[in-house]
Amino acid sequence: MPARENVPKISVVATTIEEWFTTNARDLPWRHQRTGYSALVSELMLQQTQVSRVIDKYTNFMARFPTAKALAKAPESEVLAAWQGLGYYRRARFLHAAAKVVVEQHAGVVPMERDALMALPGVGRYSAGSIASIVDGRREAIVDGNVSRVFQRLAAREGSVNEKANAAWAWVQAQRFVDASTNPAKANEGLMELGASICTPAAPKCESCPLAAQCLARKRGVVGAIPAAKPRAVKQELVLLSVRITRSDGAILLEQRAQSGLWGGLWQPPTVEVVEGAEFTPIAAAKRVAVTAKLTRASEVSCTLTHRSVRFMLYHGSIRGKGAALEVQGRRFVTREEIANYAMSNAVKRLLDLRLS
Ligand code: SF4
Repeated sequence: MPARENVPKISVVATTIEEWFTTNARDLPWRHQRTGYSALVSELMLQQTQVSRVIDKYTNFMARFPTAKALAKAPESEVLAAWQGLGYYRRARFLHAAAKVVVEQHAGVVPMERDALMALPGVGRYSAGSIASIVDGRREAIVDGNVSRVFQRLAAREGSVNEKANAAWAWVQAQRFVDASTNPAKANEGLMELGASICTPAAPKCESCPLAAQCLARKRGVVGAIPAAKPRAVKQELVLLSVRITRSDGAILLEQRAQSGLWGGLWQPPTVEVVEGAEFTPIAAAKRVAVTAKLTRASEVSCTLTHRSVRFMLYHGSIRGKGAALEVQGRRFVTREEIANYAMSNAVKRLLDLRLS
């Protein structure tokens, strides 16, 4: 008779993960000294960005804005410049706005009540649960893709993590898990760590997993099929016509994007959106972007974002003199020394770095 398969007991899962995390936690800068503010910063940075990229940026950001008060009073341009390399600049704006709320409504101390945390810009249920449990040991649940995947595999639950019923089920499991733990901070952080480093979407390291003996998906040999992949969305292509004008001293003409929408508030060479398939002579390109300069067509630059791909049709030109006539509608020439203070998307940085003949 085959051995009976039981869904793992949640208290066993919790204590196993706590013990595992005690000796397997990665050494990450935001774990060195934990405060509500440092957790808020690392949480927002880690949303949609890989740990390795956040490691590079976190320490400098904290050195530059060591407290909520320091961040709240900094100009937005400085915050965006310090965020460069992390992408998704909306999160930088949220963090800046959250710091202002913390200063104005909570005397500069990040609150630990879930509702108060969720009232901060950019803080959802997951981040609120993470901050409150890890910083203050509260029994708050956390669910993201990593956590859902671990729970679904442990219980061999089919379907994608995004299915409504599975998402609701995962929150119930996560609450049971943290309620059954002896140390909510360690349990929640360990759960996230296990999902990120061991129970990965592809090629999970089951042989090193502390839960291997309990995992139903492993026992049934269905790890690779759980959770089901979510259907791929068709990416829309955005085509941008960009003009790089360089002054004889090396300064480049830049403009700021609108505050809302893609790359909101970031800087770029004069750029307009054009329809797919449109072609421009250099004269037509200059007219379309409203610059007066002799242009040459350069190569195209493409980048892929989460929901769309972007293709830049790049033209370039150089001018003599100060170019004051081009500094209209907020456009300005920015020298090589000043450019680090202007936040830009990685795609635009590639445009500016492109060697042109
Ligand atoms: S045994 Fe494998 S599939 Fe199961 S929880 Fe561990 S890593 Fe994930």
